[in-house]
Amino acid sequence: RVDQDVEYGRLLRDVMATALAGEARGRPADYIPALAAADPSAFGMALATVDGAVFGVGEWEVPFSIQSVSKLFSLALALAEGGDGLWGGVGREPSGNPFNSLVQLESEQGIPRNPFINAGALVVTDRLLELTGDAAGAVRDFLRAESGNPAVGTDDAVAASEARHGHRNAALAHFMASFGNLRNPVGSVLAHYYAHCAIAASCRDLALAGLFLARHGVRADGSRLLSRSEAKRINAVMLTCGTYDAAGDFAYRVGLPGKSGVGGGVLAVLPGRGSVCVWGPGLDAAGNSVLGVAALDALTTATGWSVF
Ligand code: GLN
Repeated sequence: RVDQDVEYGRLLRDVMATALAGEARGRPADYIPALAAADPSAFGMALATVDGAVFGVGEWEVPFSIQSVSKLFSLALALAEGGDGLWGGVGREPSGNPFNSLVQLESEQGIPRNPFINAGALVVTDRLLELTGDAAGAVRDFLRAESGNPAVGTDDAVAASEARHGHRNAALAHFMASFGNLRNPVGSVLAHYYAHCAIAASCRDLALAGLFLARHGVRADGSRLLSRSEAKRINAVMLTCGTYDAAGDFAYRVGLPGKSGVGGGVLAVLPGRGSVCVWGPGLDAAGNSVLGVAALDALTTATGWSVF
């Protein structure tokens, strides 16, 4: 056990050094003004194993805006609560378009390509709202329970900032409503979507919260959220769609299911083994963390951890 701790600690320090040795940092998201001031050189990384150990390096306990990483949890909860009917309103094919794109929605009758682009996540939020009465609360409570950290919660300033500048998301939601693909008022769906995207959590919190996928659907308290097969399917959708129009490149470089967010977080799952979360607020053109993807690339290259 001591040997393992030393080994993981050294591994994470090496990975962090490799990631920070690259020159590229990317730029923080500025279309949500509350995120624009983040330091593109900030970096944290946490690795949680299925046997309950958690390791970290850098700013791994600093909360950041989880943004689209929340889409993983809203999807898992919507499937757990409502089952496969969800797939009537959202597909599971990669979009090959940016996360906030509108273009495919018209020809595809208001059915978004997958649950990880904004349009798809709005549908998932809508269904979770219908199932629970409080979609953002359900995501927050799940994160608190899995991380054991009661301080995980929505940063209201970030949610308000996004709502004020959310013309694109509002357009997506109204357009889907025009096809009858939202069951709740557009305003409520958007409010819950912004509130779960604006949850602040650390790499430690998210690595622990991602473990249910490494445990094939089993939660921290030993109860089952998803069947083994549902967990496998979520991992598959993460691999093909979790990093938007860069999902092919992410699979090539990292070789693990992963979900990114414009706050700079990336959560990746090593099925049967553990879960890793990296944070670096500078983004590439697809909206994925430059340092986060570099660190995961370094980690899987050094260890051979991969689903392939
Ligand atoms: N809340 C952000 C948005 O709707 C999430 C996008 C992301 O993280 N890729 O634009």
